[in-house]
Parts: sequence; C-alpha cells; structure tokens
Amino acid sequence: MTTSAGSYAEIVIDLPVGQPLTYRVGEDGEAAQPGRCCTVQVGRREMVGLCVGRSDAAPLAEEKIRPVKRWLGEIAPLNADWLAFTRFAAEYYQHSWGQVAVAALPPLLRTPPGPRWVSTLKRLRADVVNRNVPAAAAPPVLNPEQRSAADAVSVSPGFAPLLLHGVTGSGKTEVYLTAIERLLAADPEAQALLLVPEIGLTPQLQSRLRARFAGQPIVCLHSALPAAERSAAWLAAHEGRARIVLGTRLAVFASLPRLRLLIVDEEHDPSYKAGDGVRYSARDLAVKRAQMVDAPVILGSATPALESWANAQQGHYRLLRLPRRATEAAQPQVELIDLRQHKPASGLTEPLRTALEETVARGEQALVFINRRGYAPVVACDACGWLSACPQCAVYAAFHKTDGALHCHHCGWRSRVPRACPTCGNQNLNAVGQGTQRLEETLAAALPGARILRIDRDSTRRRGAADAALATVHAGDIDVLVGTQMIAKGHDFQRVSLVGVVNADTQLVSHDFRAPERLFSTVLQVAGRAGRSGLPSRVLVQTRYPEHALFTALRRFDYEGFARSQLAERQAAGMPPYVPQALLTAQAKALEAALAFLSQARVLGRAVQPSATLYDPVPMPLARLAGVHRAQMLVEAPKRGALQAFLREWLARLRESEPPPGPRARWQIEVDPQEI
Ligand code: ADP
Ligand code: ZN
Ligand code: ZN
Repeated sequence: MTTSAGSYAEIVIDLPVGQPLTYRVGEDGEAAQPGRCCTVQVGRREMVGLCVGRSDAAPLAEEKIRPVKRWLGEIAPLNADWLAFTRFAAEYYQHSWGQVAVAALPPLLRTPPGPRWVSTLKRLRADVVNRNVPAAAAPPVLNPEQRSAADAVSVSPGFAPLLLHGVTGSGKTEVYLTAIERLLAADPEAQALLLVPEIGLTPQLQSRLRARFAGQPIVCLHSALPAAERSAAWLAAHEGRARIVLGTRLAVFASLPRLRLLIVDEEHDPSYKAGDGVRYSARDLAVKRAQMVDAPVILGSATPALESWANAQQGHYRLLRLPRRATEAAQPQVELIDLRQHKPASGLTEPLRTALEETVARGEQALVFINRRGYAPVVACDACGWLSACPQCAVYAAFHKTDGALHCHHCGWRSRVPRACPTCGNQNLNAVGQGTQRLEETLAAALPGARILRIDRDSTRRRGAADAALATVHAGDIDVLVGTQMIAKGHDFQRVSLVGVVNADTQLVSHDFRAPERLFSTVLQVAGRAGRSGLPSRVLVQTRYPEHALFTALRRFDYEGFARSQLAERQAAGMPPYVPQALLTAQAKALEAALAFLSQARVLGRAVQPSATLYDPVPMPLARLAGVHRAQMLVEAPKRGALQAFLREWLARLRESEPPPGPRARWQIEVDPQEI
C-alpha cells in the first residue's frame, strides 16, 4: 500500500534549501502522507520536517537516501489548502517552503518529540477551550449601514474581499461579530479567523468576543503566549475544536481546516508586517488565503492602508462604509496649535495646558499622546556639543529618568548617565527634547492634584501590567493618561473628552514616503479615543506646520480626500501601490563590505533582467545596529509578476555566486517593504 503511493517522501524543513529533501518513507509508512509532520536527520541534526509529497523515483542514489526517523502520526496531517497557502507565501516572499510552513508550526512541533510527547499531547488536548462565560446583554440592533455591511458578508462559499471603512466608533466590531455569529449559526463546523494588531492592548475585544459567543470555543494565538498554551490553541484550531481564532499576525498561518471567514481588524496597522525572518504581511496573506479557501475576508479600518484603498478604488475590493459613529457621540473637534506662536514649556503649550486644566476640573479624562518613550531622546553638552550616542548603533541613546540611565531603544544598550561630559568634563549636561517620562513630570507640575498615568513599553513590561493600567483608566481612577501608540489603539475609553498630540512634526518631515500616511492614521486613531460616550470633545495637535494639507484633511476627518491626494502623488512619482518594490539588505562588520555585496548583487541583477530597476546601494536609515553595519538596495519592476520572476532568478544566482573578497555580508530580501 505504501509503495503504491511512492516509496519516497518529499520533506521540507525550516532551512533555506531550494527544493524539498527526499527521504525514504521508512518503517511506519502508513502515516506517511502529504501534510504529515515527521522527524528527519539533516546533517548531524534531527529536525522536524513536513511531508509535502510522495514519489516513486529518487533523485539520488538509493544508498544516499536516509529514512524518515519518525512519522508523527498522532497529529492529523495539515490539509492541502494549508500546504498550498504556505507554499504560495514562501514563493511570494522568496523563502523556502519549510521556512514558512515548518516555522508556522506551534512550539510543540518545533523540536523533535521527547519521551513525554504522547502524554503532553494528551494534556494539551484536554486543555478546555474557553466556553463557560455567561451570556452578556443582548447586542445592539445594527444601524442600516452596519446591517448592509454585515449582509455583504455571505455565509455561503465564495471569495469576497471587503474593505470596511468606518470611522472609529462606527461599530465595525459589531459588524465582525454579527458576521461571525451568522456563519457559526449557518455552518455547525465553520471556523472564523479574527486578526488584530496586538492582543495585549485589546483585552476589551477578547471579553466582548467571549461574552458574545458564550458557549463557543474561542482560542487566542499570539507570540506572547506561553508555549503550552500556544500549542494547545493551535491544536484546537487544527483539530476543528476551536471555532473562533483571535490572533496576531502569526495566526494567519494557523491550521484551520474549516476556515470560512477571515477578518483583519485595523488592517492598516504596521504590526501586520513581520519585522524579521520571512517578512510577510499578514493582511495581504489573509486576502490570499481567503481567495484560496473561497471565503469572504473583511479588512476593517478608519484609515485603510493606501494599498487597500487603491484596491477598493480599482474595484478589486468591495468598499463598505460606516460614515458615522454608532452611538449618539459626535466626532471630536480637531484644532491645531501653532508652535511658532505658542512656545511650549517642556513640551506643553499654553492652550493645551488650559484645556487640560478645564477637562480635569470638569471631572473628565484627557489623553496626551507623544510617540517617544523615555525622559528625553538625547543628552547634550552645551560646552562642546557632545551628544549621548549609542556606542553600537547610529542613533542617540535616550535618557530615562526612572533609572538615571541612557537607553538605546534599538539594541537595548544601557549605561549610567555620565556625571560630566566624557569629552570636555563639563558637569552641566542637558536632557534635550521630550519623552513620555518628562511629559508625565510636566503634567504633574502643571496639574497639581490630577491623577496622571503613563503607559508605554517601559511602564508595562510585566505581564498583565498593561491590562491593569488600562483598567484603572476605565474605572475612572485616572484623570490624565500620557503615553505612546499603545494608548492610541482600539481602546474604548468612556470618559475621555480631550486628546492632546504633543509633537506630530517628526513624521511630517521624514524621508519615508509612508510617513504622512502613518501620521494621518495615528492622529485619527488617537482622536478616535475622544468623546466616545457622547461628551463634547476636542483634539489639540501641536505643530509648526498648521497649514499643511495633511492637517486640513485631518480637521475634516477627510480620509478619502487625504487618500486621493496621497495616491495621486504616489502614482505620479511611480511608487507603491502603483509600482511593486523589493528591498535587498546586507549586514556586515563594515559598511564597505555591505555596500560591496550589494554592488555585486546589482551587477548580477542587471544580467538577469535589464528591465528591472536596481537602485544605488545606500546605507540604511539606521546604518549601524548593535555593532552591525547595514546597507540596502531598492528593486522595482513594472508589474508584480515581473518582479516575482526577476527575484526568483536573481536570488537563485545570488545564492550560488562567490561573495566579494573581504568581510562576509549576510543578506535578506523583503518583498513589499514598508520602511525604506
Ligand atoms: P469600532 O470597532 O468601529 O471602533 P465598535 O463596534 O467598538 O466600533 O462600536 C463603538 C461603540 O458603539 C461600542 O460601545 C458599541 O457597543 C457601540 N455600538 C456599536 N454598534 C451599535 C449600534 N448599532 N447601536 C448602538 N450602539 C452601538
Ligand atoms: Zn562637553
Ligand atoms: Zn544601540
């Protein structure tokens, strides 16, 4: 029986090897089938592999082929849809199939099973999938726009990409919940996948889901989960026991044999893009996966990514609009404070300070947003110009008053602030600029008696700390909340009637062509925290460029106008989404070596395909990180297909080519890079 299916198994592993490896099926061959996990010997290592096919013919001499060590027959094979999906992702992002597929397996399957594997499996399967929460109050009756959005999500099969554009508080989440509810009711086995940018920051969504689907098995999948919990959740999804999977970007790879609906909440969020390894976009992959399993996919946002917006404009996605807030609450009033007229004292202008005082006096809450943590971004010597640079990176180390040290936010380097300037001995060193800690101090001085809370990565390192902090805000025990992006996302604070944005300008003058898009969505996102329960509310933005077109659009909450002008600019300049890009980066001990590698790669690339555009190799914006020098080269082609074909051929040659003399460079490819 096994021989008829082929005596050899094609196995992929988590290494950059071009083709699946061939093994003999071996002894316990009944378990040998595509999608089955196994363990194999690779060189001297035993590794977990995934069978992707069987064959009769061996590409090597019989004696060179090793048998599969062990088939993990205790776990059902990954299905053909999943294999096809991971294969697509690997090809698109130019990595090996195993680097995507095997890397997407849960902790349980990342290393060869030990002696206790079977009992571990048993314990993981016994883990109760959460289902005993009492049912909550009846959900709100959908308004007409919500209803037509929910009606657009069919419960019958069929690929349908839907872009749900709804201002913050317009009731997008209610649309998701309704769509899931209808699906689960229509199909007793169907599974739904709901992706969110960060789970830790949205405990509210979790409790809303659990309350709404009391009695339904829901699991969470994200990287901060302990290994056993993550494995248990993965198994529950893989075995069809979980019907709703709530997860971060990695959950796009979850095995969901009955997947019938995908939802990407806050689809514009940069955290959907993986920062290392295979640089995939979970949003883009969710759309592809929906297409492959013939299911609807909802991309929801108040400020869709311009890529998604362009897709909707071109008719690739169906646009669904929720133009107003779901409750009686009006949108806040956005006002600009001209920093040229109002000199800030420690970051705070007079109008913002007054507005804060008034808000606190009324017993309402205020939220102050700044996109830098720490006390000050740099420490300077006025006498000689010394600045607190990180010794390992090409950036300044920020001053943290909480521990009196300099911190590099990129490599983690820390050191006590010197008592005197290391260059000239001057003892008067200045902390320059604003961070969350300094702003917290400034606010405390400006608003005596107000209860102020800072939320940023430093204040929430402990597990559960963010939840606890957010809970105090919800409970009304806080008057002023100061923090970074962490406070901007998704929270449904009920009593916030004032939002202050302390400094928006760094992003306005950035070299990155996506910076305005990000600034627009961040400010709209924080603004969306104001006035949710109907209090008249204001958003005050401090800027030196109040006449900038971005702010004109922001004041009117005019995402569409903003998107139109940005897209026109991008089209005129030949930038994404109109021209697809890839970025080759190189890292080496010396910048010259990284640049030399890229120059050589460029020569190779020109030989492969003269029509691809390979730009000059340049140092990366962060040119040195943790002691490693980094350079990059941008690649473009007129069409996605042409770029894909070029990359495949070019990278294959690059892997085979002799590196240039001198220190070795490591390289990485990123398709559809988000930061250039
Ligand atoms: P979004 O996801 O767009 O930010 P939510 O779905 O969280 O919006 O809804 C915002 C608030 O409005 C929530 O408190 C929600 O309970 C409420 N809400 C949503 N839809 C309705 C509705 N149709 N009627 C009344 N309240 C609603
Ligand atoms: Zn000095
Ligand atoms: Zn550093």
